[in-house]
Amino acid sequence: MVHHYGPHYFRTNHDSVIQYLSRFTEWIDGNYIVKSKVGDKTYPFPINLETLEQFFGIKDLSVDQAEQLLEEKRIDIRDPQNSEEFVLSRLGPELYNAFYLGYTLKQWGKHPKELDASVCGRIPIKLNRDPYYVEHKFRKFPSEGFTSMFSRMINHPLINVKLNTDYFALKDKIVPQKATIYTGPIDRFYNFEFGKLEWRSLDFVFEALETEFAQECVQINYPGDTQFTRKVEIKHVTGQEHSETVVCTEYPKAEGEPYYPVPNKENHRRYLQYKAKADTENKVYFVGRLAEYTYINSDEAILKGLQLFDELSERHF
Ligand code: UDP
Repeated sequence: MVHHYGPHYFRTNHDSVIQYLSRFTEWIDGNYIVKSKVGDKTYPFPINLETLEQFFGIKDLSVDQAEQLLEEKRIDIRDPQNSEEFVLSRLGPELYNAFYLGYTLKQWGKHPKELDASVCGRIPIKLNRDPYYVEHKFRKFPSEGFTSMFSRMINHPLINVKLNTDYFALKDKIVPQKATIYTGPIDRFYNFEFGKLEWRSLDFVFEALETEFAQECVQINYPGDTQFTRKVEIKHVTGQEHSETVVCTEYPKAEGEPYYPVPNKENHRRYLQYKAKADTENKVYFVGRLAEYTYINSDEAILKGLQLFDELSERHF
């Protein structure tokens, strides 16, 4: 089992999302452990006490000592305006240069100065020894994978799925009785009339290997001098038992299927023009990462879907 569209490490703090999805899946523990390869050494990532110990060559760092150390390293920037300022204000230049700068340049094709603080701000800084990538209260993974979960979700007599069908070829024929819920790129919906929004895409290169495990944890980040950003061996998370394995290497690119909005002021300004138009629509609703041009995780996208459904059912049903 592999993730064709990049790793999805399901986690959430929202009870309604857990309850809803649990109708369609059982769960296994989310073994989401990530490391970052800086030079020839591999460090725990997000940065935690062990990363600081290894990086600065200090033993048995206490929380107080780590705070003191970061206090000495960080740059005094009160209200960080972009991802560079955010990381410098939390961790200082050495850790920024080693773990963030190169990765971000590759991932976005932009300098961290040109990206909102929230982009690098997604990554927690952890003054503990917890090795997991995320800190949410529910950190679990669908026991048979996402495909089974979604197959059960759409297995309903009133749900008719049309694959390989271009919505825009049919758009004029689809007149919503109650609602159209659009989850594609919002600029495409309006034929790019306010100009193209920027999106970021990836090439996923899969390699099957004749070994049970190829790397020590599910994801290794490469902030250094490679064209790719990370290598993912999802088997660490799916729990699948197999004598062989698959590693997926991610190469970021500007063109191709849109996977990420590019969060900065200019794109946001353009998005607001589209949003103003979308807000005047009758019976067409825009939801999700692409339709709302927002860098949300899958649990947040599902939460937005559930909230919209509640809103529509009050109005229509
Ligand atoms: N990031 C980084 N170094 C890393 C991992 C992440 O600089 O080793 C930055 C980078 O800009 C990235 C952002 O933090 O795009 C968010 O990372 P996350 O792992 O959440 O990205 P996703 O899994 O959504 O691609």
